[in-house]
Order: sequence, then structure tokens, then C-alpha cells
Amino acid sequence: MNSKIVNLFANKPETEKSAAQPAIGQVYLVGAGPGDPELITVKAMRLLKEADAIVYDRLANPALLDYARDNCDLIYVGKKKDQHSLPQEKICELLAVLARCGKNVVRLKGGDPFIFGRGGEEVEHLNKQDIRCHIVPGITAAIGCAAATQIPLTHRDHAHAVTFITGHRQEGKLYINWDLALQKNSTVVFYMGLSNLREITSNLLERGCAAETPFAVVAQGTVDEQQVLLGNVSDIADKLEQHPLPSPALLIMGDVVNANGYAQQLADLATQAAHAKMGILDAI
Ligand code: SAH
Repeated sequence: MNSKIVNLFANKPETEKSAAQPAIGQVYLVGAGPGDPELITVKAMRLLKEADAIVYDRLANPALLDYARDNCDLIYVGKKKDQHSLPQEKICELLAVLARCGKNVVRLKGGDPFIFGRGGEEVEHLNKQDIRCHIVPGITAAIGCAAATQIPLTHRDHAHAVTFITGHRQEGKLYINWDLALQKNSTVVFYMGLSNLREITSNLLERGCAAETPFAVVAQGTVDEQQVLLGNVSDIADKLEQHPLPSPALLIMGDVVNANGYAQQLADLATQAAHAKMGILDAI
């Protein structure tokens, strides 16, 4: 791969074609899928191979960049939570500038661009500037993690609905519609909730959620490093404190967590691995 890696934080993005180039480029907001690079769509893969510039996030698996053609600009715009990252307005403007330079741009986002991916803001910005924008859906983390853990998000006997909620704080506050989270016979998936897990579960319990409601934390879902922690609404925060998990992680709540034994098997394996590691460390 001879693609150029563009360091956005040091330089302006390189644009090979001159500003005089007449044709305006297009932007494709592309879902990269939840982690496993094979979970990308055929269309997304084709667009990656054809792109003049790829603007990518932290959650998009970097292995996907191997499909970029020679001389494609590779522009990284996402950093870890709480670290410096390019502000959203600047990302929107970057996409517009690249397209105006005549480039066909792939904006590669983890999961699906329209599920907690700020794709809505990017498409709005581009539409206002008459830049053609296309959306290529991706497998969102909830669907990917559900498949990887065999937790069926809906189930004839357990859940007739599934709700995706953000567990992220905005200006220090959680904006969760608790009535929605407490619906009967449904599954709730919290994105971006790992660091607020205790506050989320305390709120649920205060509002009448049954303490034994099954709860799963799936960290780094769909890739080899995937880890699963199982419990219920009243004990999962303590369990997470004892066995901290890395991000990205998804929280899944509902009877479907125990619908078959597979998630439990994965959680048992993770516990055994953690114990074995501790044993090795103790022995050193
Ligand atoms: N647009 C993305 C979501 C972005 S929000 C999508 O559709 O999946 C980022 C959150 O997604 C993370 O905080 C985490 O909750 C979840 N997430 C993304 N990838 C994940 C993975 N591989 N395993 C577990 N959770 C993941």
C-alpha cells in the first residue's frame, strides 16, 4: 500500500489535484462495521478501493485501509475519549474541502454512520453546500456484538422490541429516557455507557427495574480481543469494578442475555483467562 498517511494535526490535508480542477467530488459516509474487518459490505469495500481520500475514525478497523489504492490520502480524525480530536465542525468542513478539490471521499465510520455516529451532522453540512453525499450502511455495534455473543436482540419468548440508547454524558449529564429503558419484554442496548455503568444501573434500580434483570457488557466485540462480562442490573457495576474492561464496550440488558448459554460460556472463559493470568503473575 503506497497510500499517503496525512497527519491532520500537523499539516493541511494534501490535495493532489489542483484547485482549478473543475469536477466536484462526492462524499460517501461509509459504515465500517463493528470491528471485525470482514463485516464490511461489498459496496463499502469497492468504495474504499476507489477513494481519493479516506477520512477515518478510531473505531474503524485500520486493517480496512489496506484496500486503499496508491496515493489515496488517509486522514485520521478520531482520538481516544478525553484526548484531543478534530472538532466535528472541522471534520464536516474537511469533507467539503476535499470534495471541492475534486476528490471522491470516503468518510469511514465505525459501525453504522447513522447510529450514534454523527453522520447526520456531516450529511446536513454537505447538503447545504450542494456536495453530493451518499450513505453506505454498516453493521452497528449492537448487531455485531449480539451475533458474536449469540445474544438474540429480539426473541419470540423474551423481547418484542429493542432500544438503542446512548449512555454518554453531555455537559456532565445523562440524557436517558428511563421509561424507554424500562419497557417490559424488551432489550435495551446502551452505547457509550461503560464509564457510566454504575450511574445507569442505579437509576434503573431506583425506577423499579427488577434487580435480577440480566445484564451483559461486551468489550471489543467481534474481534479476537472480545471480552464478555455477565451479571444482572444490581451486581454488574461491582463485577465491572473487579474485572475492568476496555472500550469500546456495549451494555446489553434484558432476558435475551440468558436466552441460550453461549454468552455465559464466553464470560466463563474470560473469567478463567483472568484467573490464569493472575496465577501466572502470582508465580512470577
Ligand atoms: N456508529 C457506531 C457507534 C459509535 S458510538 C456503531 O454503529 O456501532 C461508540 C460506541 O459504540 C462505543 O462507545 C461502544 O458503546 C460501541 N461500540 C463500537 N464498537 C464496538 C465494539 N467493537 N464492541 C463493543 N462496543 C462497540
